[in-house]
Amino acid sequence: MPGEGDQKVKKKRSRARKDPNEWGKKWLVDTIDDREGVEETSSIYMDLLDRCRTERESVAYWRDLLKENGFLDLREGSNDDPVPGTGFFLTNRDREILIGIVGETPLIDGANFVATHLDSPRIDLKPIPIDGDRDTGLGILRTHYYGGIKKYHWVNIPLSLHGRIVKEDGTCIDIGGEENEPIFVIPDLLPHLSRKAQNERKLSDGIRGEEMLALCGLSSIPEEDNRPPIIEEVLEHLNSRYGIHEEDLISSDLCLVPTQGSRDIGLDRGLIGSYGHDNRVSAFCASQSLLLMAKEGVVPKRWSIALNFDKEEIGSDGNTGAKSQFLELALYALLDWSGHRGNRRELLRTCSRSFCISADVKSALNPTFKGVQDIRNSARLGAGITITKYTGRGGKSGANDASAEMVGGLRRLYNKEGINWVMQETGKVDAGGGGTVAKFMASRNMDVVDNGLPLLSMHSPFEILAKVDLYMGLKAFSSFYTKYPLE
Ligand code: MN
Ligand code: MN
Repeated sequence: MPGEGDQKVKKKRSRARKDPNEWGKKWLVDTIDDREGVEETSSIYMDLLDRCRTERESVAYWRDLLKENGFLDLREGSNDDPVPGTGFFLTNRDREILIGIVGETPLIDGANFVATHLDSPRIDLKPIPIDGDRDTGLGILRTHYYGGIKKYHWVNIPLSLHGRIVKEDGTCIDIGGEENEPIFVIPDLLPHLSRKAQNERKLSDGIRGEEMLALCGLSSIPEEDNRPPIIEEVLEHLNSRYGIHEEDLISSDLCLVPTQGSRDIGLDRGLIGSYGHDNRVSAFCASQSLLLMAKEGVVPKRWSIALNFDKEEIGSDGNTGAKSQFLELALYALLDWSGHRGNRRELLRTCSRSFCISADVKSALNPTFKGVQDIRNSARLGAGITITKYTGRGGKSGANDASAEMVGGLRRLYNKEGINWVMQETGKVDAGGGGTVAKFMASRNMDVVDNGLPLLSMHSPFEILAKVDLYMGLKAFSSFYTKYPLE
């Protein structure tokens, strides 16, 4: 028979095993006192979501706001030395923006970076998009989707046209966001006739890439062999509205994004539904915390920098993505501004002594599909920010796999600062996977760890985020900028 002592040990053990991750899974909803702060942060963020449907619109949003708040546009140059506490920013081709605050210690001793992205999955137009259907008289826009979407999510919903057209004379025309603009829709097949034509297809094939045709008008059916009259009508409309010709569409970045703005979800209004949380929420937390520091006159010990990249959803390639050397060029300029020579050795030293949070949204436990996740190692809506040691697929392939030291340092910081966090991995082993910009930052020899806010319905036209998580994300990055690493 076991003695009393043994029993006690056993009891203690079973309590400890009840929820091995419980230190990170306190329900924020129940513990948070600053309800006003949660609502205020949410309303600023929801306004941003409604104004910024593309990376270009996001860059314009931050550029205007930072200028208003006295941040220096480094493109215009500065005659003054970098005084600790000075805010600055640098844009790259209107699609990427680096935002920073000068720290007390020299840049060459390393900076604290939060790296995010501003692009979101969407439906791009093909270079020659306008077509007419001869049998129905319908005008259609041919599309090519951008990023990893489930195509069937994007049919039968209102879509708005956003982007930039460059005319032959070089003039740029930005469109999108105007009130009462015409919208577009990709029509699906009615259930009554889907039995053979569609229901027997695989789900991922429900709507195929070449079937993503957006309606853009209605006209009469063409005479034999004639070009459908609807094409002329669509072109006439574009010409009178924007002064463009069909060939101008060849030099454009045009996309269709959900028309629906952000909304509170639930009777308690605890969730935010919107297009584009991935990854405007991380960019918001990273950039808004710098803006608040500047407003409150907080001077960080180390240089604090938010990197808002483009092109993450298609692999970070392209000159505005995380693989581009824009960051190197920007760091050379900052070193030069700091009185250094700004050479490669200084650059490498700066990066090697830098810390980076790769901030991107994470998969939250879905009540319908819990089976894809290891519950003990997954995030839930409303439990705070995630620390994600690795992403990748098929045996961590393509992952940064943060070091124990970096995870340890962040865990210590968040515990000390009262940040609710949860340890998370994307899903069960071999269930699928994904990646972030973490590995591109790590290739610059920085210490990098993934952090993010959990979402439901990621990459859909209406993604779901918890307001308390947003609030905690902002707090987490502020503490990272001002206090990491702890003494
Ligand atoms: Mn993302
Ligand atoms: Mn994504």
